[in-house]
Amino acid sequence: MDVLLANPRSFCSGVDRAIAIVEQALESFGAPVYVYHEIVHNNVVLGALSGKGAHFITSLDEAPNGAVLVFNAHGVPQRIMREAEHRGMRVFDATCPLVNKVHHEVVRHRAQGREVILVGQAKHDEIIGTMGQVEGGVHVVETVADVARVTVQDPLRVAWATQTTLSLDEAAELVGAIRARFPDAVGPKTDDVCYASQNRQSAVKMMAPKCDVIIVVGSVQSHNTGRLAAVAEEHGARAYRVDRAEQVDPAWLVGAARVGVTAGASAPPQLVNDVVAMLKAAGATRVHELDGPEEKVTFPMPKGMRPMRSSFSALGRSGLAMSSQMRLGA
Ligand code: SF4
Repeated sequence: MDVLLANPRSFCSGVDRAIAIVEQALESFGAPVYVYHEIVHNNVVLGALSGKGAHFITSLDEAPNGAVLVFNAHGVPQRIMREAEHRGMRVFDATCPLVNKVHHEVVRHRAQGREVILVGQAKHDEIIGTMGQVEGGVHVVETVADVARVTVQDPLRVAWATQTTLSLDEAAELVGAIRARFPDAVGPKTDDVCYASQNRQSAVKMMAPKCDVIIVVGSVQSHNTGRLAAVAEEHGARAYRVDRAEQVDPAWLVGAARVGVTAGASAPPQLVNDVVAMLKAAGATRVHELDGPEEKVTFPMPKGMRPMRSSFSALGRSGLAMSSQMRLGA
């Protein structure tokens, strides 16, 4: 059995920065640090940060006035920001700058009198946060049928935007339906799918036809991880999602000559290394890291915080060195 490693995979800059913000807040102010909703959608990360004193809350009522509070990477509605300020909380905003970019687009369109059709999952934190940047006038669509049902006041004054973690094909289909129904609609050049989602999906598209099975590391609530599994299946591989290596069922590997491994943008690199180690223990003899684009995107930390990477990222770097050695046959 051979193992192929998708490239790139695992952490993106926005996730690494968000986790680093919580870690630095804990270091500077001590526990507890309150985090509004899941900082990123990964259960291993959430468990580790909880162990260090982070409290994940779903309402500001769960934190005392004046507490240290971090907003998650997916963004929060404006009313939560106002409420935190009203309660005298010390706030650090870990919203990914690429999500903020979508917020700004929606605010600009509304200020210019357009209604916005927002492509994404209605219940996802990112969509709730984006809708909450303005007072009404945003219609969320998940399917082409939803696009057909949208009612707007003026079909000539329509704009659209998308969730950052959609699959490229899914985004293209829905944007096509919006453009067909509202030919004057304005929006980004193609969509708002971020570089990290695009790169990870492209890597899986390239890898899937070479694989019998693909293990996708990431939690069930991670939308971009789910898209990676869907892309793998669409391109001919059986895909399985796991949070940790121990969840890989040996029965999945029976008869597989090539097993691909990738990870969603919220899954720490070390978890991928653990899966590779598990596959080697199960009989894999060779590990090939596929070629892929080098990601150089970095985002500045919020005001008052020093530049740093998350501790998960540091662990993963040593793990990647191990993968390289395996690739060279060491
Ligand atoms: Fe930002 Fe994209 Fe990462 Fe989400 S997946 S945190 S939008 S870079």
